Order: sequence, then structure tokens, then C-alpha cells
Amino acid sequence: MNPAEELEKVAQEVAICTKCDLHYSRKNAVPGEGPADAEIMFIGEGPGFHENEQGRPFIGAAGKYLDELLASINLKRSQVFIANVVKCRPPSNRDPQADELAACNTYLERQIQAINPKVIVTLGRFSMARFLPNAKISSVHGQSMNIKGRLVVNMYHPAAALHQPSLKPIVEADFAQLPDLIAKAGQMPEYRDQPPEDKEDPKQLSMF
Ligand code: URA
Ligand code: SF4
Repeated sequence: MNPAEELEKVAQEVAICTKCDLHYSRKNAVPGEGPADAEIMFIGEGPGFHENEQGRPFIGAAGKYLDELLASINLKRSQVFIANVVKCRPPSNRDPQADELAACNTYLERQIQAINPKVIVTLGRFSMARFLPNAKISSVHGQSMNIKGRLVVNMYHPAAALHQPSLKPIVEADFAQLPDLIAKAGQMPEYRDQPPEDKEDPKQLSMF
């Protein structure tokens, strides 16, 4: 299956998923959207009111701000993939719970595998926790880590900056670093879980 087909399959499965209780109250699941070959993937928390209405990620106030942040580094939304750690809206926008995050994780994992982005930007603490379970966002925001050949960059959630305006300059400074990080990620060697199969057999090499 090619990446676009796999993403479509994930979206179809998510639309009818009943793996956690969030399915009871959702109107539309929000699988995420963007090109299958995106180099950058943004991972937010979960759908809010507007996203649940329309089935699309980041289309409310936080989404508008995210669009501005993208524009500030000359990126268009159509160039990046935008997803969430839970695909259905938590009632009243409460925090997603551990069992919901666990149930939904395979969909996000499949999206990451299919897209194979060079850079993953986590937006907010739930998305960050997927990669750095014990970190505090106030200490690691703006930092990047090489995880299996990709750069994972942790950012505050845009909604946090809307609620707490003192965070805005911090979020904007973190975003301003992204072009350099994207360039850096482009230079990183490709990660392989296992040695490539077509390499010489080490047993044979040891004969010489
Ligand atoms: N906030 C999120 O984390 N995700 C969305 O899709 C919208 C708002
Ligand atoms: Fe399924 Fe994820 Fe929706 Fe839960 S949040 S019902 S696991 S798609």
C-alpha cells in the first residue's frame, strides 16, 4: 500500500472507530490532513468544537493562529500534515485520558510511518508526552531531539498562547527556529531499524 492509500485507510477506520469512549459523543472524527509526502508533521491534542463539526483539524481560533505561525516561516498549511493524538473530541474539550490516548495511538503511529516526516512538531503537552513521557513543556519547548532519524521539536500548543498571551513571543521564537531545524533534519542520515537486507552477509566477510 502506498502512503496516500494507507492514510486514506486510517481515515476510513477512524471515521467508524469505537475503540474508546470518545466515539460516543463525536460528531465527526478528525483523522488529520495534509500531503502524504509532507516533510513536516504537526501533532496537536484533539479536536475541539469546530473540528468536531467539520471533521478537519485546527480550524478554530488555535488553527487560525497556527496558520499565522506557519506563514511567519513561509509555510502553507497545504505543505504540512496536521494530526492529533486523539481523533475524536473529548467532551467539553477536557484533557484526553490515558486509555483514550493508548487506544488512539496506533492510528497516529500508522500516519507517522506512512508519511515518514523529517520533522515532527508536537503541539502541547499530550503530544509531547508521546515522545517524552516525563518532560515538562516549560523546560523542553523549542528543543529538538533526533528520534530514530527524525527531528522531534516540542512546542507549546497555540491555544495555550491564546489563553496566556505572555507565551506568544515564546511560541513565535520557537517557530522561528523551525526553518533551520528543517534544514538540519534534511542532513540527517536515514534511520534503519534493521540492517538493510542487501548488504553483504557479515559471515561471508569474516571469511577473508
Ligand atoms: N486543538 C488541537 O489540539 N487540535 C485541533 O485539531 C484543534 C485544536
Ligand atoms: Fe477511536 Fe481514537 Fe476516536 Fe477513540 S479517539 S474512538 S480510539 S478514533
